[in-house]
This record gives sequence, structure tokens and C-alpha cells, in this order.
Amino acid sequence: MTELTDFQRKLSALLPQLQLCFFEPMARHTSFRIGGGAEVMAFPKNREELSQLLKTSALLDCKPAILGAGTNVLAPDEGVPGLVICLKDCLDGMEQLAGDRIRCMAGVTMARAAVFAANQGLTGLEFAHGIPGTVGGGVYMNAGAYGGEIGQICTAVEVMDAKGDTHIRTREEMHFSYRHSVLENSGQIVVSAEFQLAPGDTEAIWSRMKELIAKRTASQPLNLPSAGSAFKRPTGGYAAALIEQAGLKGYRVGDAAISEKHAGFAVNLGSATAGEVKQLLRQVSEKVYEHSGIRLEPEVRIW
Ligand SMILES: Cc1cc2nc3c(=O)[nH]c(=O)nc-3n(C[C@H](O)[C@H](O)[C@H](O)COP(=O)(O)OP(=O)(O)OC[C@H]3O[C@@H](n4cnc5c(N)ncnc54)[C@H](O)[C@@H]3O)c2cc1C
Repeated sequence: MTELTDFQRKLSALLPQLQLCFFEPMARHTSFRIGGGAEVMAFPKNREELSQLLKTSALLDCKPAILGAGTNVLAPDEGVPGLVICLKDCLDGMEQLAGDRIRCMAGVTMARAAVFAANQGLTGLEFAHGIPGTVGGGVYMNAGAYGGEIGQICTAVEVMDAKGDTHIRTREEMHFSYRHSVLENSGQIVVSAEFQLAPGDTEAIWSRMKELIAKRTASQPLNLPSAGSAFKRPTGGYAAALIEQAGLKGYRVGDAAISEKHAGFAVNLGSATAGEVKQLLRQVSEKVYEHSGIRLEPEVRIW
């Protein structure tokens, strides 16, 4: 059995009541199915536990990494030193508010949030139903699809800072832009988010969600591990089209490959490493630049 590190011993002594896992494989928590062990992975069940964790890790001079559903993260093969705080299904709960708004905790998946809204007869979240991440990850990334974006409907975000204190950020203070929010720079953690929706017909909402899921299933390689679109949409084109025009569909580095089904996706064919995915992204970006003069930037967060 591997001996515990000093950090693991100290953290479990200071937080005996918290659910902590040691050397937890990141591959189990990322949709790429890639990544070595996290020194400590913590699963806080509520605001109080999250706050305690943040205070204690600050005391131990550790800046934790935050994980939602891991659907936009490439985790390193050698593992993650220090603390990873996993929020999926941990910070849980949803409620309807006055004025056709809903509030969702950060660990709720987008799919559950969209179903909740549909069941209340509220329209506006249909676009997010097929995005496989959490509300926290969606707010952080300003996730979007089929013309909708979190930043269009998000009216307020409850965030927690490194000291474990909570604050409310208005939509204006979130500085949403394409696949970006202020949280990338502030380091604050999404605890919950409010979405402004509108009254709608439940049947029509469900029918739109089913239509969008069918579109995804028809066009995306959902049978293989990936992190969705590998690259951001560049100015002046679409990543998938540029990659296809450069003849790179099916291009491989080891077990990391550009999907044959959708050139915008990098997929794990079986035992791809983070190193292989990084090389693949670098090589594809260079080849697309040589072919089109357009530089592709990764959308996936490389840890
Ligand atoms: C098959 C597939 C299809 C996809 N389709 C789409 C799509 O249509 N549109 C789209 O935008 N994306 C898409 N994605 C990418 C991904 O689902 C989104 O980016 C999603 O919003 C990520 O959420 P997550 O909870 O998985 O975040 P993670 O991948 O866990 O994290 C992403 C980033 O957000 C940060 N983060 C996560 N939670 C929090 C929090 N509570 N507070 C602060 N920071 C946090 C992490 O530190 C990390 O930097 C797709 C991915 C896959 C695998």
C-alpha cells in the first residue's frame, strides 16, 4: 500500500468528517477517461463543508483545483498534486424562484437543470440539456450550444472565494464572453446560479430537447471518450471545417485521434494519454495554420 503524504495526513486530521479520497484516479472523473491520481480528492456536500475545505487548504498553503463533471478537462498523466475539489452531485439542489427564475446548485448537471425547468413549464434552458457538464462548469465556461449560452440567461451567481466566504455576482459582473467568464481570472468557485426563464409549453420544451439530442447523436462521436469540441471557434471559420479541409479527420497520435465522425472532436480510442492528446492538439493546430492561416486554440482546459 502506498504511504500517505504529509499533506494527506494533515488534511484528514484537520477535516475528519469530510469525504476525502487519496490518489484518486482523475481518469474516473473526466469524460476523456484520462489522468493520473489526485493527491487528495474531496467531495464537499454543502456550502459549509466547501468553506471549511477552502479555509483549511489555505492554511496548508494549497490552492485547490475545482472539478465539475470533468467534461472539459484534460488531466495530467502524472496526476494532480494537492487538492482537487469535486462538486458534481455534491453541491446539489434546485428551486423555482419568483418571476420565472430557477436557482441551481453548482453540482447539478445541466441535463437535470433543463429537465427541472421543463417540468416547471419554463423555457430557455433547452439548449443546455445535452451539454454533459454541471451548472458550475457551465457558468465558469459560459457553455453554449445551438444558439443558446449560459451568459444569456444567467442573472446572478453565488461564488465562494479562497477564504471560504460567499458573494453574489450579477450578470454584468460575470463578464461572460465566448466560452469565458470572469471566474477564469478571479479564482472564485460557483456555488449556485440563477437563470431567468420564461413560461412555455412543457410538450414543446420536451420536443425541442429531444430534437437537439437527436442532432447531437447524429453528428457527434458520443460512443468515444472526449471533452466535446477540442478547439474554440476561431474568428473567420469553424474549427471542425478547418480541420476537415486540412485533411485531418482520423489524424492520430497514439490512441488520441481527430474523430472520423466530427472533426471538431478529439477522442480517446482506448488508452490515450494526456501527453498524446496535447501533442495531437498542437500538431493539428500547426497543420491547420499552415493550411488556412487560422490559429486554433484549445477549448478543453489543460491541467
Ligand atoms: C460529448 C460532449 C459534448 C459537449 N458539448 C458541449 C456543448 O455543446 N457546448 C459547450 O459549451 N460545451 C460542451 N462540452 C464541454 C463541457 O461539457 C462544457 O464545457 C461544460 O460546461 C463543462 O462542465 P463540467 O462541469 O464538466 O466542468 P469541468 O470539465 O469539470 O471543468 C471545466 C472548467 O470549469 C471549472 N469549474 C468547474 N466547476 C466549477 C465551479 N463550480 N466553480 C468554478 N469553476 C468550476 C474547472 O476548474 C475547469 O477549469 C461537451 C463535452 C462533451 C464531452
